[in-house]
Amino acid sequence: MTVEVKPVKVICPLCRKETKVEIPVFIVNDAQDGMVKVQIPQGACCPEHSFMAFVDKKFMVRGYQNADIEFTIGDKEKTAAQKKEEGLKDFSVPDLINTIGPDICSVIMRSILVSIPILFLDTFDLYNRVDKAVILLRDMESDDLVITGEKVTREDLKDKKVRRNNALIVVPLYKAIMRSPFPEGLNTRFETDLLREASQLPDRTSQIVFLRKELVKISKIIDEFVKILKNADKLYEEDIPVATKEKFNYKLDAKNIDVIKQIIEFKHDKKLAQKIISKSLDKIRTDLW
Ligand SMILES: [Zn+2]
Repeated sequence: MTVEVKPVKVICPLCRKETKVEIPVFIVNDAQDGMVKVQIPQGACCPEHSFMAFVDKKFMVRGYQNADIEFTIGDKEKTAAQKKEEGLKDFSVPDLINTIGPDICSVIMRSILVSIPILFLDTFDLYNRVDKAVILLRDMESDDLVITGEKVTREDLKDKKVRRNNALIVVPLYKAIMRSPFPEGLNTRFETDLLREASQLPDRTSQIVFLRKELVKISKIIDEFVKILKNADKLYEEDIPVATKEKFNYKLDAKNIDVIKQIIEFKHDKKLAQKIISKSLDKIRTDLW
């Protein structure tokens, strides 16, 4: 089976190295808003950096998103023979990251946190990696953590129901996001940190248990913040790490507080999310009025 591809020029947003990557035409043509996000993994454009390129209908890059943290996985990617041998349950979190790309995996984690379906578009693959990704998410599910992860075909995507629902649609083998309900400025640093930590654990089960536990924990904390915000005029961003430490004994990196505001905005209530403000912004407002 041949897939028609077109070359796209990408430039590393950090070191400006240039390369051409081939992107299947159907991914761009079937994309909802004419924009596809493609993960350019470390080594594909330059030896150091991994980033996302936003490709438009004309196969031109419209923008980049680069992670401000480097993601290196301890495990090397499996060889073809290893992939062939591997059973459905041998596919670990580092395998998922190697297949789909770290930034896209982070968006998948965010999708779990906001309870939207994650659809994996199946394309020809000798190693059944789409099935393996679906099973990995299924194994991560628990009573406390509902995950909708499904395999879909290109035919399914034409279905109106699939088109209407607010799902994340990933094409794992081409490291691409075809449709995403998230806004441009999505910051998934929090999820990237979780994935990095999970990847350092020795086996699939402990990786899954770790991610499940952490995703449940942050969801509960966010639910608590929703309650707090309902009864407050405002909440300073700068106070969030202290609040999570004191109230929930949870250490949230100050650089990752966006996750709370963004999830409340997406999943709960935009007005509540707007009550989270930075102290400096509040000072400007007070000075003005
Ligand atoms: Zn670079």
